[in-house]
Amino acid sequence: MVNEATQLAALAAMSNRYGADSAYVLAGGGNTSYKNDKNLWVKGSGTSLATIKAEDFVVLERSKLDAMWSATYPEEEAAREAAVLADMMAARVEGESRRPSVETLLHNLFPQKYILHVHPAIVNGLTCSVEAAAAMERLFPAAVWVDACKPGYILAVECKEKMDAYKAATGKDCDLLFLQNHGIFFAGDTVEQVQALASHVMDTLQGVVTKEPDMEPMAYDAAVVDQWKAEIGKLFADNAVVEFTVCPQVLAYDPATKSLSPDHIVYAKAKQLAVKTLTQLPESYATFVAENGYKPKIVFVEGLGMFACGTSQQEAHTALIVMLDAIKVVAYTEAFGGVSAMPDFLIDFIINWEVESYRSKVSLGK
Ligand SMILES: [Zn+2]
Repeated sequence: MVNEATQLAALAAMSNRYGADSAYVLAGGGNTSYKNDKNLWVKGSGTSLATIKAEDFVVLERSKLDAMWSATYPEEEAAREAAVLADMMAARVEGESRRPSVETLLHNLFPQKYILHVHPAIVNGLTCSVEAAAAMERLFPAAVWVDACKPGYILAVECKEKMDAYKAATGKDCDLLFLQNHGIFFAGDTVEQVQALASHVMDTLQGVVTKEPDMEPMAYDAAVVDQWKAEIGKLFADNAVVEFTVCPQVLAYDPATKSLSPDHIVYAKAKQLAVKTLTQLPESYATFVAENGYKPKIVFVEGLGMFACGTSQQEAHTALIVMLDAIKVVAYTEAFGGVSAMPDFLIDFIINWEVESYRSKVSLGK
């Protein structure tokens, strides 16, 4: 591993660059990797691309990850994911104690050396749209599409099938993979190749988007907002932190829109509360909690704006920016026939997904 210093430094630099760019990465999401024939270096679960250093990547043995494709795993969900996780942990090199990204198997699938996996709003404008795969084929004919499915092992199996079929049909390795209601994978043997591919995709999408989401902050009545903050905070928790924002796109958003991607559920919950008046708030809040079994992290107030709650500044702020991302994605879907949310079975799966909730806790420093 002594000879890998230059490559890992390049991986860290690439990770930091995209991790710091909010057009690509939000809330500790996304992951990157580098590989040689023997080892895979992948972002650890819960670490952040913006600040990751060369020595922070989790090191795994590729032969052990490859062997997972011929293993048989339990049909039952919890048992299967636990067994897969155990094998992934066992694939780490000796002395490695950190937990690799849940998307590690996918990173190992690509033969290319450098991988960038992100969930940009403009990309998800396509992957969360009605046209979806058809729009991708039109704009990126050499890319591979994967329908929305359960994350973790099932997603990796699904991707392997599609990537193998692509290789069989074209004789080439897939270097661009779109995941419905999720995000995108870029692959290249150099960082420059990955960057060129990412720029090509972002520029192409920017070229077909007819209307940019209007996220320009608007003026509001601070006294009114403070009153709402106090009331919402009291309902959320004793030590609640409540943030507020308003922009034309927030006011135009339909709060009944279903969840678009796993990140949105992990950080902003599957459902958001919508209310009209302060007097209505306690009853609407109680009904919401009774129906969903959790307190809303996001509260939309008609004509006023959006409130985000947490028990820390970071939790509230993360909920806010992730919800704003969902609102942006919805606006971008207009270029691709309108919004197409995640199927209900997937929404339920994510709500109960242990691996993702682990990520949410680590990202928030809990
Ligand atoms: Zn992802």
